[in-house]
Amino acid sequence: VVNNLEVKPKPNTAEAHFIDSAGNPVGTALLTEESGGVRFHFSLNNLPAGTHGIHVHEKGDCTKPDFKSAGKHFNPDAKQHGAQNPKGFHAGDLGNIEVGSDGTADAEVTAPQLTLKASDHSLIRPGGTAIIIHAGRDDQKSDPSGNSGNPIACGVIDKAAFTHSAIHTTQ
Ligand code: ZN
Ligand code: ZN
Repeated sequence: VVNNLEVKPKPNTAEAHFIDSAGNPVGTALLTEESGGVRFHFSLNNLPAGTHGIHVHEKGDCTKPDFKSAGKHFNPDAKQHGAQNPKGFHAGDLGNIEVGSDGTADAEVTAPQLTLKASDHSLIRPGGTAIIIHAGRDDQKSDPSGNSGNPIACGVIDKAAFTHSAIHTTQ
């Protein structure tokens, strides 16, 4: 049963609110803990059309404009980048997302090596984690970031997202 009036976050979910390099809101990710990993549901807007690499980075800090504050890809297993890399992949590698000519994307991906529960693979940890969308396509093999170009959007992963979303949407 879907209840649109539900405002209390479930314990097995998290959320990220993306901003672009100018600080404008460009959509959200809803994260859900499942038996096969963490499912990400992306609802994005006002982004450049095309294919963009998308990854979980190791720090929960989206300081515009370059988002370097988010650090490297989340990589608790000390692997190399990309699903097609024989020494891969980073737990935070989410592949690519396709943005339509209208600047929007609605897509889901499940990351099998991530969790929201307490673990060295948890997205909820001291210092946090963030999701970054890059300017270009991720080739899914070039270490360390798939030749995907500069970050163009960033969102901190937040367990208490429903509390903070009011802040993000009224700024
Ligand atoms: Zn990245
Ligand atoms: Zn990576």
